[in-house]
Amino acid sequence: MNTKQFIVTSGKAFRIGDISPDFTNGKVKGEAIDLQVEENMKEMARLQDILYAHNKYGILIILQAMDAAGKDSTIKHIMSGFNPQGVNVKSFKAPSAEEMDHDYLWRSHLHLPERGNIAIFNRSYYEDVVVVKVHKLLASHNIPEDLIGDNVWQERYRQIRDFEKYMEENGIIVIKFFLHISKDEQCKRLLERLDNPEKNWKFSSADLEERQHWDKYQNTYEEMLRETATEYAPWHIIPANKKWFARLLISEIVKENMGKLPIKYPVMTSEDKNALESYRQQLCGKV
Ligand code: ATP
Ligand code: MG
Repeated sequence: MNTKQFIVTSGKAFRIGDISPDFTNGKVKGEAIDLQVEENMKEMARLQDILYAHNKYGILIILQAMDAAGKDSTIKHIMSGFNPQGVNVKSFKAPSAEEMDHDYLWRSHLHLPERGNIAIFNRSYYEDVVVVKVHKLLASHNIPEDLIGDNVWQERYRQIRDFEKYMEENGIIVIKFFLHISKDEQCKRLLERLDNPEKNWKFSSADLEERQHWDKYQNTYEEMLRETATEYAPWHIIPANKKWFARLLISEIVKENMGKLPIKYPVMTSEDKNALESYRQQLCGKV
């Protein structure tokens, strides 16, 4: 599938309303799609093994979305193909007292991937220009008042662009996904959390409260996506009303990005190879 149409590298022309959350690129749910996702996952696992052995690049996958857009199930299904040894998933909630005592990027920095590893952020530092903006939470943060001026959001967008540039220049590949669902689809999924006993635990009355601010969130997301889409860390806008399509597209994009990396298994020097022969003889008492 041509994934280019879902990539935003510059915010200038980007409008969230131009993308239908129902879009499936003419594809239909079925066995062929499941097979394609499975193949993508196999290839991702193969590349992860090389990434780990090469041990120079790290990959950061960021998932942002409205409630119930499918971040959790994406992680569960797509990422399950990876070797757990090289993957860390971090879910970002409202900051703890300790986190509040630091700058807002601190907690993310702590969870950036080690070289050779993949980190998956379920929400991220983008919450600090989305939920914090929608609910005007900055005033309750311990930041000197004179540093919170009219330009504070523009400053944060710049800080985030700089942070992502910093990551790129230090060998961390940032792959960002915005899972785009409609208000109706969110309603269906939240109702399912109420109706299905196995999903009851996922329901939070906070979801209802957040839903009241739907339009504000959409505008805030649009601005954030426009301001933080760059060539080196583009956004991928995933039509996510159909979970099967979101899974296909995300697996395709992760696979493509991993495939572009100049990684390979380390090659042994001839000295090492000679040493192997001697180890072979020493093993099992053959010397
Ligand atoms: P789901 O999409 O399945 O509902 P979730 O990611 O919303 O999962 P929750 O535990 O329901 O998980 O919610 C986490 C909450 O933490 C979100 O409402 C999010 O906006 C909030 N949060 C995350 N980071 C921050 C932050 N920096 N400041 C304030 N709130 C934050
Ligand atoms: Mg939630």
